[in-house]
Amino acid sequence: MPADRHDWTIEQIQEIHDLPLLDLIFKAGTIHRENHNPSEVQMCHLISFKTGGCPEDCKYCAQSSRYQTEVDAQPMLSVEEVLDRAKKAIAQGSTRVCLGAAWREARDNPQFERVLEMIKGITKMGAEVCCTLGMLNAGQAKKLADAGLYAYNHNLDTSREFYETIITTRTYDDRLKTLDVVENAAISVCCGGIIGLGETTQDRLNLLLTLANRPKHPESVPINLLSAVKGTPLENQTPVSGWEAMRMIATARILMPKSMVRLSAGRVNLSFEQQALCFLAGANSIFMGEKLLTIAARNPQPDADSAMFQLLGLKPRPAFAREERTTLSASSAACP
Ligand code: SF4
Repeated sequence: MPADRHDWTIEQIQEIHDLPLLDLIFKAGTIHRENHNPSEVQMCHLISFKTGGCPEDCKYCAQSSRYQTEVDAQPMLSVEEVLDRAKKAIAQGSTRVCLGAAWREARDNPQFERVLEMIKGITKMGAEVCCTLGMLNAGQAKKLADAGLYAYNHNLDTSREFYETIITTRTYDDRLKTLDVVENAAISVCCGGIIGLGETTQDRLNLLLTLANRPKHPESVPINLLSAVKGTPLENQTPVSGWEAMRMIATARILMPKSMVRLSAGRVNLSFEQQALCFLAGANSIFMGEKLLTIAARNPQPDADSAMFQLLGLKPRPAFAREERTTLSASSAACP
C-alpha cells in the first residue's frame, strides 16, 4: 500500500476532482477498499450541550447571536442529561458521540469541568468522544486528553481565500493553531468543511489541499453540505447538489486514504441512491438522529437510516476500529 502523501499540488487535486464522475468514484472506491472495511459505516451522534448565543459571526450558523434565527441561547445541559442522551444513542448503534458547544473558545471555568465529566462518562460507555468547543489552549487540550477525549472537531470550513467572506471574528491561522494544539496533545483531529457557502470549486480544492498537506492527515474529515438557515446571511444560498458532494468525498478519500470521511450535515437532501454512491466513493460515517446540532439542521429519520443500512447491506462500524486495523496491519506486516 503506498504511503500517505503530504505534498499534493493544486493541479493534481484539480485533475482528480475533475475526472469523469464514475471514474472518480471507481478510483476513490478502490482506495477506500484498500484502507477500510467498505461494508462498515460509523454512526455518530451529536449532542449540543450548549446551544445558541455564540458571539462568533459564522455566516451559515443558526447559533450565532448576531442573527435572528429560530435558535435561542439555551442554558448548558447537565452532565446527567448528556450521559442519558449518549446512552440512548449508543444503544441505537452510535459508536461516536460528538459534544458541541456554541462557544468562541473553551475557558477554564466550572462549565469546562462539566465537559470533562461528560467525556469521562461517555468514554466509559465504550464510545469515541469528540468535542467541539471552539479555540483551545495547550493546558485545556491536556485536560481533555487526560479525561479520555478521543477527538476534537475544529473545521477549517473553506479555503483560506474565501474564509474571511464567511467568518471575521477569528482567523484561518487561529483555526490552524487550534489544530496544532489538539495534535500536540495526542488527541485525534476532526477537521473538514462546508460546501455551498458560495465558494468556487477552486476554494473547495484549496481546502482539501490544506487538509491533505498537513504533516498528519486529520483522522476525520467531515464534509458538510450547507443547510441554509432562515435568518442567517446565507439563508438564500442555492442548495449544493449531491453530485458535488460526491466529488468532494471521492477526492478527499483519494488524498487522505486512511481518514474517516464523514458525510455530515445536509445528508437529508440526498436520495438513498446518492448516499450509496457517496459510500462507494469513500464516505464511511454518517450522523444519526433527526436533528444535528440544532433544530435548524435537519437530518434523516432514524428509521430511514436503518432501512438504508439494510438495503445496502451496511453495518455499523465499531468504535476505535482505526486502532484495531492499524494494529492488525502492523502485526501482519511483522509476519515473514
Ligand atoms: S459555527 Fe460555531 S463558532 Fe461559528 S457561530 Fe456557530 S456555534 Fe459559533
